Amino acid sequence: MRISWLGDVLRAAGVQVVEEPGWLTRTANGTLDPIGVLWHHTAAPSSASNPSPALGVCINGRADLPGPLCHALVDYFGVFHLVSANYANHAGTARASGPVPAGSGNVMLIGWEIDYAGDGGGGVVQQMTSAQYDASLKATAAVLRQLGRDASYARGHRETSTTGKIDPSFIDLDTMRADVARLMGSSGGGPSGTPFTVYSSNVNVRPTPSTSGTPVGNLGTAPRTVYVECQVAGQTVTANGYTNDLWSRISSPYAGYVSNVFIQGPASLPVPSC
Ligand SMILES: [Zn+2]
Repeated sequence: MRISWLGDVLRAAGVQVVEEPGWLTRTANGTLDPIGVLWHHTAAPSSASNPSPALGVCINGRADLPGPLCHALVDYFGVFHLVSANYANHAGTARASGPVPAGSGNVMLIGWEIDYAGDGGGGVVQQMTSAQYDASLKATAAVLRQLGRDASYARGHRETSTTGKIDPSFIDLDTMRADVARLMGSSGGGPSGTPFTVYSSNVNVRPTPSTSGTPVGNLGTAPRTVYVECQVAGQTVTANGYTNDLWSRISSPYAGYVSNVFIQGPASLPVPSC
C-alpha cells in the first residue's frame, strides 16, 4: 500500500507538513500494509538553528541499512517532513505489543522519527520538544483514524524492538496513548458518531472534504450505513439534483469524508461541526 494520503490527512489535522522531494515513490525493499503507528527518536541533537539534523540519514539511510528509515521526520518545531509513502526500514522485526502482533514492524507500522537526542548515550541529553509532542499526537490520531484503528495501535519502538532499542526517550507511552485517544474523541468500543444512510451507490470516501483526493474506500451498493462524527464545509458537489458544500467526516465503514449530497436527511445534518 502506498500511503499517498499522508500529507492531506496530516494537514487536515492541523499538522505542518513539508513534502520532501520523491517521498511518494521512495521505498525500501518491501510492501507496506499498515495497522498502526510507531514513535522513534533519532538520537541526533536538534535545535532552533539546526531543527532536522537526521533528515538526510532518514532519507538516504546508513552504510548498514538502506533508506528510507522513516515515513516522516518530525523536526524541532514539530514540522512533519514526509520521507516515504511506502515501505521504510524503521522498525525491523517486531515483538507483539498491545494489539500489534509479532512480525515485520516495517510492514505493519508507519514510523515517525522524532528528531531529538534522547538519553544521549553518553553525549547530549535532550527531551522531545512540546511542539514535537503535540504535532506527533495530532498526526498519530489522524493516521489511526484513517486506518480505522484505535489509540492502542500507537506504540513506541522500545515496546516492539527485539534488539533492545530504548526510543522514544522521556515519553510515557501509556500517557501518549491516552492523549491520542482523547484527540480521537473516543476510547474505542464500536464506531463513533451518529448513523446515517448513504442512498447512492458507489460513493467514494475521501481523505479530505474534496473530490480531488485518492479515495480511502468506496461504499459500494446502496443503501449503506455510515457513522458521522462531524461535518465541515468543503468542495461543492452536485449530484442527483442536489448541490451541497458540506461534507461529513465518518468513522465507519471507512475513516474519511463523504459529501452530504449523498446522505439522507437535511442538507446540514444534526451533527457537530468539525
Ligand atoms: Zn527507533
